[in-house]
Parts: sequence; C-alpha cells; structure tokens
Amino acid sequence: MKLSLKSDNNAIKVNKLTKKYFLKSQNKEIIALDEVSFSIDKGSMVALLGPNGAGKSTLINILAGITNKSSGKAFINGFDLDKSVNKAKLSIGVVPQELVMDPYFTPRETLNFQSGYYGLKKENYLTEYLLNKLKLEDKSDAYVRYLSGGMKRRLQIAKALIHDPEILILDEPTAGVDIELRYMLWDFLKKINSEGKTILLTTHYIEEAEHLCDRIAIIDNGTIIVDDTTSNLKEKNGESNILIECEENVTNFHIDNVNFTIDKKSIFINTKNPNKQLPIIMKTLSDLSLSISNIEVKKSNLEQVFLKLTNKWNILSI
Ligand code: ADP
Ligand code: MG
Repeated sequence: MKLSLKSDNNAIKVNKLTKKYFLKSQNKEIIALDEVSFSIDKGSMVALLGPNGAGKSTLINILAGITNKSSGKAFINGFDLDKSVNKAKLSIGVVPQELVMDPYFTPRETLNFQSGYYGLKKENYLTEYLLNKLKLEDKSDAYVRYLSGGMKRRLQIAKALIHDPEILILDEPTAGVDIELRYMLWDFLKKINSEGKTILLTTHYIEEAEHLCDRIAIIDNGTIIVDDTTSNLKEKNGESNILIECEENVTNFHIDNVNFTIDKKSIFINTKNPNKQLPIIMKTLSDLSLSISNIEVKKSNLEQVFLKLTNKWNILSI
C-alpha cells in the first residue's frame, strides 16, 4: 500500500514550531516562536492576534516558505512542509506584510505573469475575474508604481489568489489602510470565506479579529497564550467593570469574595457576573445608608480580554 503524503484534514497545522534568530551584532539569540502548536479547520476564518514583535509575521513567513523554521513541524492542507513543499505551496496564497510587486508592470501584466508562474493555461487565467472582484479594472493597464497604496494592497491580494488556492493567508491586511478600504476588504474576505476558502490573518487590530473571525489565537512573545472561539474568549476571560458613585465618601464598604477598590466617593468593582453581584452590592450600600448618584456597568469586550491576557492591562478602565 502506498502511504498517502497527506497527514490529516486540517487546512493548517503546526506542531512545536520554533524559530530562533541570532543577532550577531548583539551576540544574542531571539526566540521569535517558541514551540507553537495549533491547527485550523478547513473553511474557517481565524485570526492570529498579537502585539508588534509577537511572532506573527515569522509564523506566516514560515508557512509561506519564505523563512526557515528552526524546529517543529508545519502542514498545509495536510502536506508536510519538509517533504512536499511544492504541493503545500500550491494550496496557499500568501499576502505578505510588505508589498512585493514590480513597479513597471501593470496590474493585468502582474496577474498574467503570476498565472504563468503557476503554469496555468491561458483559458484558466483568473486575471480578469480578480481585477473585477478587487475593483482594479479602472487601473488595470496603469503602471503599478502609479497605483495608490490601497490599490497595491488589493493587487497583492489578487496575486495571492491567482492560482485559486484553498487557503489564503494575510499578514496584517488592513494595517495603515483607510476605513473605506478596510470595510471593502472585510466584505471581500467574508465573501470568499463563505464560498469555501480557509482564511488565516494576522492582525494587531482587535476589532478586526472580533469582527471577521470565529476563532482567535492570541500570540505574545512567540507563544500562543489563548486559542478559542471569539465568543468563548469574551465569556471566559472577560470581566465587567461596575462603577458606583456615592453622594458621600465611602469608608466601610466590603463584600466577601468581591474584587473592589474605593476612591473617595467611588467604588470600582471587577466581576465576571454583574447580574448576580449587583443586587448584593445594592443591599450592602443600602445597609450602609449610602446614597448613590451614579452607576455604570461596562461589559467586557475583546480589547480588555486581549490587554489582560498580554499582561498590559494594569489600569482599571471604565
Ligand atoms: P510580528 O509580526 O508579530 O510583529 P515578527 O514575527 O515580525 O512579529 O517578530 C518576532 C520577533 O522576531 C521580534 O522580536 C523581531 O524583532 C524578531 N525578528 C523578526 N525577524 C527577524 C530577523 N530577520 N532577524 C532577527 N530578528 C527578527
Ligand atoms: Mg508582522
């Protein structure tokens, strides 16, 4: 029996992936990825969310075959990057963080050239289809160097899709783009995901991860610290903040097992379950004969979850 080259049914799977850089000038080793393991189901849209320097681009570049890993395994569409790199590459389209394009080609030429690179037959070229889908038709015959930043980015996405890969990987697709283009790209990504493409994107915009992706892996310092569905993330890790302002200074407020701080007339309470805590808080305030001038409850959002998990949440924001 011939052994299949495919290992499983994940779109992407990495196992204990590690990348170390050695900085000669400082005689120092940097661990950009530290035994990262995770997998992505076919058809899903997943965000790799993390602050600058977390290791996102390193991970993407290893999957794209641009950067060599130090150790660990990576599979794309079931193909082992160590054994079947060409088959793995045919399954993905990658949109890098830094745009790579020939400024003296037009978008049409760029896409036709890319089609040729993949050995596609002329009748199967997706050039015209992608120029249309990414709203590049007007500039299809202008030199790339005359395109706006937003158009170049759209062209880069078209380039990544030219061989109709099953998986699209985008490294910070909307960093530095204007709001209009961001929404246009979000709609486009949602659409191609609904048509079956698996999408992995990196971002440091929490809103982008929350809006687009049903699953989020948070990466910090080369380690995946959380990998869960967006809704679970909010529920499990989120805390609500309750602010109560009283008419007079608060001196002897206390409730067992409730995390609170007092600042003159204000009480700040941190809780996972504001609905359960609020009646107890109100009763305690009433027992102390404290009059309330204002109450605010702020439910957790993903931003608070993210900042907390990456240990950057040291202020009680309300
Ligand atoms: P992100 O994309 O999340 O901002 P990167 O993957 O670019 O993070 O970087 C992760 C870490 O690896 C950072 O500390 C960065 O300085 C370092 N790094 C990235 N590329 C190189 C390189 N070519 N040489 C040395 N260090 C690098
Ligand atoms: Mg990056």
